[in-house]
Order: sequence, then structure tokens, then C-alpha cells
Amino acid sequence: MQRILQPGEIEALDAIDFPRIRLPRPTELFAERAARLRQLAPGNPIADYLLFIARVCEAQAGIAATLQTTAPDAAVLERALEHGMPPLPLQDRPDPAWQAALAQLLERVLAGAADLPAVLVAHARRLQALDAAALDQLAADLLNEDGDADALAVQPLVMAALQLVWADRASRLDAARLAPAAEPTVCPACGSPPLASVLRIGGSAEGHRYLHCGLCATEWHMVRVKCSHCQSTRGVRYLGVDGDGKAVLAETCDHCRSYRKQVDQHADPLAEALADDLATLRLDLLMAETNFERASGNPLLALPEPTDDA
Ligand SMILES: [Zn+2]
Ligand SMILES: [Zn+2]
Repeated sequence: MQRILQPGEIEALDAIDFPRIRLPRPTELFAERAARLRQLAPGNPIADYLLFIARVCEAQAGIAATLQTTAPDAAVLERALEHGMPPLPLQDRPDPAWQAALAQLLERVLAGAADLPAVLVAHARRLQALDAAALDQLAADLLNEDGDADALAVQPLVMAALQLVWADRASRLDAARLAPAAEPTVCPACGSPPLASVLRIGGSAEGHRYLHCGLCATEWHMVRVKCSHCQSTRGVRYLGVDGDGKAVLAETCDHCRSYRKQVDQHADPLAEALADDLATLRLDLLMAETNFERASGNPLLALPEPTDDA
């Protein structure tokens, strides 16, 4: 039996009818990210690094257009979807295509080696010399956040190649079937923590807050009143840098004492989670002086862990 909806009911439906999960479109995503980094670089304290990562993202965009990953096994996918588990978990061995993606990425990045800082060129050459087994081990260590200083030094290049294969596989999932993960603070596609959250403008996502996966770039909705780390609704506040505008703020939580950045497209329509996070390293340096700890890192930023005896 059909029922005719009254105007008020239609509006209410409209408000709840927005995508809970936004799967990535890798080629566009990487190209937009690169453009945003180039836009943010001039005058930034880490301008050279932003331009280096812009080049990495341009390489990603070029490779994404022709990348061939394997579709997840149908039975494994079905089981994961049935149980609300991420269908592309981190614990899986990376899709074998990741090594070819890394080789192409290094080649493209090194094609402009003359303008690159010597230390970054040395890291890229070191990666080119590793065999397949060593590369897989490196990937596993970095995905498990278990890398030593040598691994952390090459993290941005390795993670960029892993982003390529995970984003490609995520882009082929069926968003309608992908349930929010049993743990809503991790990516429903791959189980990684979000690198930041985004307040989106435009279309059906307008005004909604999404957490952005640092590995596969899937975005999933979470109401703004909740801490994106512990889901507490008490004590969520925003801190920013005087004079830096409101496009990127640190969302802090008094309950778990963590912070994560929120990127607001209403303040800057071109704002992009990974690029704007990297370009606001100054906010992280200021937050380091508070007693809030960053909830999760940016995979394209290699920072050695502070040692206790330093
Ligand atoms: Zn993910
Ligand atoms: Zn919290």
C-alpha cells in the first residue's frame, strides 16, 4: 500500500537521505590533492615538502588511471559485508600490484630529481634497490605502525603506493552494501583510522561531516557532536591558530584527550583532507604544547617518534 507524504515529511526524508559512505574516485582525488598542495605551498614553512608530496600525488593520479588490482574474492567479500567487517582489511597482504605501483611512482618522482632535496632522492633510490620480499616486509611494518627509523624515512613513498592499491580496490566496492564498520571510528572499507574529518559542501553531502581514511580515501559519516576518536559527545571543542582562518581546526576531546583536524569546505571550498592537514603542520606544533595527543597520523608525513631519552 502506498502512502502520500506530506510536505514536512518529505523534507525530513530529504535531510536523512545523504550518503553515509563516499567511496573514492582515485584519479580525481589524487589530482585534486596535488593541485591543492601546489596552491598551499607558497609561503608555507614546509613549502618544499608540500611540493614534493604534490609531485607524489601527481604520480599517483597518473598511475591510478591504468592501475590493475585484483577484485576481492567474492566469498570473502560476502562474508565481510554480512558481518559488518571491513572487506579490504589492513591485515591482508597488500594487493601484489602495489609493488609495480611503487616502481612506477619512484620512476615518475625521480624523473624530476634535479629539483628534489638530495635526501628524498636518496630515500627513493634506496627503495628501488629493495627486493620484493623486503618491500612486502616494509609495507607490513608501516601498515602495523611498527616501522623503525629507516622505514619511517621512506614511509611517504611506500604509503603512497599502498594508497593507490587500496583506493583502487575501495573504489570498486558497492557503497550501498558497505555497512558502517562495527567500530565507527575506523574506515568501513579497510579498517584504518581517519587522517582528518571534512565538512563537505555541495550535493547531498552538504553540511555533513565525514571522516577521511588515510589509506583508501573512503569517507564515512559521523555526526559532528561526537569525538571522532572515542565517540564521546561531551567536551568536544575546536582550537585554531590566530590569523590562520577557520578552514582547518583541531577538534579536541576532553574525554580521551586527543585531537584530530577538521577541514571545513565552507571556509575554503577547495580544502582537501590530506593536503590541508599536511599544510597546517604549525597547528600540530602548537597542539604538541597542550596535553591533547594527535589521534592518528598523516601517512604522507614521516616524523620520527619522539624518544623518551631525547
Ligand atoms: Zn580505508
Ligand atoms: Zn574523544
